[in-house]
Amino acid sequence: MVTKRTPLIAGNWKMNLDHLQSIAFVQKLAWSLKDANHDYATTEVAVFPPFTDLRSVQTLISADKLELAYGGQDVSQYDSGAYTGEISGAFLKALDCRFVIIGHSERRVMHNETDEVVAAKSAAAIKHGLVPVICVGETAEDLETHGPSAVPVAQLRAALAGLSGAVDIVVAYEPVWAIGSGQAATPEQAEQVAAQLRIVLAEVLGQDVADATRILYGGSVKSGNIAGFMREPNVDGALVGGASLDVAEFASISRFLKHVGT
Ligand code: PEP
Repeated sequence: MVTKRTPLIAGNWKMNLDHLQSIAFVQKLAWSLKDANHDYATTEVAVFPPFTDLRSVQTLISADKLELAYGGQDVSQYDSGAYTGEISGAFLKALDCRFVIIGHSERRVMHNETDEVVAAKSAAAIKHGLVPVICVGETAEDLETHGPSAVPVAQLRAALAGLSGAVDIVVAYEPVWAIGSGQAATPEQAEQVAAQLRIVLAEVLGQDVADATRILYGGSVKSGNIAGFMREPNVDGALVGGASLDVAEFASISRFLKHVGT
């Protein structure tokens, strides 16, 4: 069974591709999907370039009227002021970003982002009209100690602390042990946690929001394994790291409906 929500395939470029490379990449991706008659209404496709690429990506997408969406990889919890190196949600919105990734495990680990910071950034994203892609996921040690869902569920509860009502958010379940390791979770593991996350969404934000919210799986997704994840009822897409830097591979992942079966 494929999700009843509109699937989202999201490519997190991390610190790869400068602004010139981003233009070539987005052009090739758009051509590749056009050649394959990709229907964006059936599967949404988004890229998350580094901040310095966003203006170039915006200009290209707007000039060529491309249907690709895009967003930032992080956002400040603050609106403006003396926060050297930070980027406000207002700045991302001014560049027509639709999404912003929040709480990626690399930021939680390397930049000491706590659950409280993730919650504040999620609220800031909503405030500025951005859709936060809230990342949660357990380490291998968490999995061993607490089982599969405990840590992602606790992280999601914490991230939603400042939100209420009919908010438009995306949740990305990314087991840390699966990110960049080549060892993806099984579709059954992803479904098990995604189902628990949807229960949290229902408890905190209500059943309607839970039913409408897309939950992505992330961690070593490739064209060869995307179909398995997309057959699960609570998995609504993928957050793709390494494989999103290869145009043909990312386009193939985006076209998963061609090889998913029903
Ligand atoms: C990520 O970093 O969000 C990710 C899922 O990476 P990869 O696809 O390379 O495992």
